[in-house]
Amino acid sequence: MTKILIIEDEKTIANLEKDYLEINQFTVEIENNGRTGLRAALSNAYDLIVLDLTLPELDGFEICRELRKHKDIPIIIVSAKENEIDKIRGLGLGADDYLVKPFSPSELVARVRSNIAMYQRLKQSIATTPKEFRMGELRVSPESRSVFNGDKEIKLTAKEFEVLLLLISHPNQVLTKEQIFERIWGFDSNADISTVTVHVKKLREKLEIASAQPGYIETKWGVGYLIRYLN
Ligand code: CA
Repeated sequence: MTKILIIEDEKTIANLEKDYLEINQFTVEIENNGRTGLRAALSNAYDLIVLDLTLPELDGFEICRELRKHKDIPIIIVSAKENEIDKIRGLGLGADDYLVKPFSPSELVARVRSNIAMYQRLKQSIATTPKEFRMGELRVSPESRSVFNGDKEIKLTAKEFEVLLLLISHPNQVLTKEQIFERIWGFDSNADISTVTVHVKKLREKLEIASAQPGYIETKWGVGYLIRYLN
């Protein structure tokens, strides 16, 4: 049973969304007020939230910000104003998808489906990720986000960690700068691809692994980077 919460103050819209989702086998609850909506979202196990931006008492921006502190379930933002959607994107509040009103109910159903599927794939891949990657003296733990070279803990920035994790979880595989950039920076328009080179350089300095040792980040000139599995 897939449970959706709609936080929307316009009752006709909320009911229309609910009807379409229910026809498509979703279980749906509606909250018409921002404050009660947030409370419901925090205290129940929903699989996805459809969130309007302009709401009484507490707006969608605040709800999104607050929800993200506690939950990682998909949030689809709906708004009548395209500039508000740009604004929430710009704030990086962690919404997963956006719909501009008016939209067709079938469009909503399609988005709900694809966001839930994406979320489940993500959960699945997290569940199957090993607790720790080891390469010689280097140990990387995705769960605690910690890195050790022997007994020494290496402090990395979030992005440095992501780059290292990506490389070490694909041993012997050359990843191009473009692949690394896309996977880690995604659609962040403030970054450019040269940042990959900078991060790899920084990682080598911090990790202090000699080039002949397991765990060293090798450069494949003109292609990309890899961590070779040596046994
Ligand atoms: Ca509204």
